[in-house]
Amino acid sequence: MDYIKLEGYTVLPARVEGSPDVFQCPRFVLMKPAWIPDSDSSFCNLCNVKFSQIKRKHHCRMCGAVRCAKCCNEKISLPQLGLVEPERVCEDCRDVCRTVSRARSSLESVLIDAAKCLASFCQQDKQIKHVVELGGMQSLIMLAVTENVGVLAHVASGLHTLSTHPSLHKYLAEAGAIKAICRILSRIGDSREEVAIDAISALMIFCRSQDLKNKALNDGGLKSLLSLCWSERAAISLLAISTLGLIVENTGNHEAIFESQHDAVARLLQMTTSEDEQIQEVTLKTLAFLSMGGPVHKHKLLQEDFSTGRCLERAFNSCPSNSQILSNAACVIANLATSEEDQMAMHELMAAVSRKLPGSERHTELMCHLTRALANFSQFKPNVFHLLDAVPAVMSHVLRSGPAPAREQALRFLLNLLAHAPDQVSSLLVKNDAYIFLTTLGESKSLLENVSSSLAHSAPAVMKPM
Ligand SMILES: [Zn+2]
Ligand SMILES: [Zn+2]
Repeated sequence: MDYIKLEGYTVLPARVEGSPDVFQCPRFVLMKPAWIPDSDSSFCNLCNVKFSQIKRKHHCRMCGAVRCAKCCNEKISLPQLGLVEPERVCEDCRDVCRTVSRARSSLESVLIDAAKCLASFCQQDKQIKHVVELGGMQSLIMLAVTENVGVLAHVASGLHTLSTHPSLHKYLAEAGAIKAICRILSRIGDSREEVAIDAISALMIFCRSQDLKNKALNDGGLKSLLSLCWSERAAISLLAISTLGLIVENTGNHEAIFESQHDAVARLLQMTTSEDEQIQEVTLKTLAFLSMGGPVHKHKLLQEDFSTGRCLERAFNSCPSNSQILSNAACVIANLATSEEDQMAMHELMAAVSRKLPGSERHTELMCHLTRALANFSQFKPNVFHLLDAVPAVMSHVLRSGPAPAREQALRFLLNLLAHAPDQVSSLLVKNDAYIFLTTLGESKSLLENVSSSLAHSAPAVMKPM
């Protein structure tokens, strides 16, 4: 039995007969509870009365516990257990049990009320245990297939609350909660802001977990999120793009985004020029993850950028008050700069990187990405001529006072240049304080060890007479 911890209680989540996915198979039947043997109970543990010849024992059909007649006197029909006639249910189970039963009504008003009650039970420490144990979670997911927006609003709220309990994630996901959320999002779009926010927030919480990022993508999350990224309502747009950003943290999910039928990459690129700086920042972070893949994806990203009007360059050349925007844009550019076949298309970006470097002292991360971009561009010989202008800035701004990771990227930049154009670069180094270059090199012990060991071949330690 898989017990979990929930709000301090030990809880046994309800299981259904057959497939656990109640979004796909909504007419679920719960597995019957194990009955506590009569001999194990001498007291009713709801009211503490001692059982006797007069105080008889009764089993609650829903939880299987032994109760006294007073605590187990109500009879409720239990379609969730596949039972037609009303059955005895204890006071502990009564409220949630009746609501789960009503969630199968054919009357919309009853469904709205059932969804509302379930959502409210999810927020009560004492009742959430029963929601999970008695099929309330499954009922909420089942209700997501209705057309009634009122029902969907309560379902979104309930699923959002349940998603805040990590111990439930596994059960929610296998029961189809992500599909239910996507269904709600496609049905209501952004027409009801609070509902959309509840639904996307739940999806976002799921996407923080490593396993569920993929499930969110497979269960239809991409389409829902992409359509909401464009919402006029900034809060919805920001949540949708942030959730997408969590999905792309898994490199394995990139293919689906690059191959999506919904122009995902083009849309993201266009969003980098949004007027909302938070949206810009999060979109660029998402693109930074997408730019980490292989040459095919990098090439696609650059092609899309070209056909959408060079959004990256525009975002990078804007002067946002939020400098994280520039840092994220620089990260994208630095990643793309490793693509050999696209070097010609990136000349403008390369020039922009060189221009930004002198102003980056106060933002460590930005400086690291900019220097990394230069180092990546410098791997390719045809770029060397265009990069020589950046040498003085790299030496004075990065080598002299930059953070260690940026200084290492600066060394990589200068060493690449030296390898391609030794004469020109040496004279530039001498003109721009070669001392700082040499001391930084000297501080890089592992680099020098590699140089020494490679020299050991051409300059051996032991030799025969010449
Ligand atoms: Zn009792
Ligand atoms: Zn009970």
